[in-house]
Amino acid sequence: MLAALTKKSPNEIELRVISPPVLCEDEILIKVAYCGICGSDLHAYNHAKGYEFVDHPRILGHEISGTVIEVNDERYQKLIGKQVIVESMNYCGKCENCCNERYSICLNNKVIGLHFDGGMAQYVKTKAKYVRVIEDVPMEIAVLSEPMSVAVHAIKRLDRDITKNDVILVQGPGIIGFFVALLCVERGAKVYISGLRKDFESRLKKFEPFNIIPHVVEDGLIDEKVDVIFECSGSKQAVISMFDQLKKGGSAVVVALYEQESELFLTNLVRNEWMLIPSYGSDPVDYDEAIQVLKKHAAKIKDIINYYPFNQVKRAFEDGLYQKVLKPVLEIDTKST
Ligand SMILES: [Zn+2]
Ligand SMILES: [Zn+2]
Repeated sequence: MLAALTKKSPNEIELRVISPPVLCEDEILIKVAYCGICGSDLHAYNHAKGYEFVDHPRILGHEISGTVIEVNDERYQKLIGKQVIVESMNYCGKCENCCNERYSICLNNKVIGLHFDGGMAQYVKTKAKYVRVIEDVPMEIAVLSEPMSVAVHAIKRLDRDITKNDVILVQGPGIIGFFVALLCVERGAKVYISGLRKDFESRLKKFEPFNIIPHVVEDGLIDEKVDVIFECSGSKQAVISMFDQLKKGGSAVVVALYEQESELFLTNLVRNEWMLIPSYGSDPVDYDEAIQVLKKHAAKIKDIINYYPFNQVKRAFEDGLYQKVLKPVLEIDTKST
């Protein structure tokens, strides 16, 4: 099969013919239709700090949609021929956190496409328990289930529901930021999304049809303070400055991953009782709402996603890395969908 493999040196990826994966217990084989390129794939691609655990060569990719073509146990026979998406987190189901349904922070957590080979290949294998059958969402949109589930998770991490009375700021005009903003709009809130001026045309502006208000960071603070901030930018400066925009008693949910450390003056957090809430990945249940929201907005979302033929994988990574596009998605085998 054809697979995209990273190399020992950063910023290199190449298509190579390798043998398809062999199934082990409880595993199923998927013919990949689409595979999204995520921020963490870009971090692994350029060997960023915090990604030393990723071996190279590695087939990246944890945002996967495709068709089940082989199983090795009769119990999974009914999955054959079904269109599915793959859950990225391979939780153990047995540890303390799993038993409390906090699967995203499973003590033995592994992520497909980082800890072991993923979906940037014609075929990928995973355990049957990590797939979900998709019935009425096109595969090119269903491939976004994982980033949408991360956004759903971030909103659930808040200690309360978001309502129409809330004013929300989402920092960072990437796909996760956009999805978080969209989910907040769905809940009736007034939602701003901020980004740099250079991102206005390629990203911020594209969110306006979803009733999300773009804000350019260089223009200074927004006129009103906000109830909740979702930090999805990954910029250390954005972490430090976000509290200037937050109401006393407000919450900041940190969703991005960072390549640099940021220093916070905790006295300010204490005096304002600002809640700092980290959110990592997603739980299986988060995919339920994710798939529903994708279905509802499928046509409009498709308009702002960039699809690349598999043989342009290098360009797709570079466009992602230099933020030329909001979200690069690889078309691996779209004929079967
Ligand atoms: Zn992802
Ligand atoms: Zn676990």
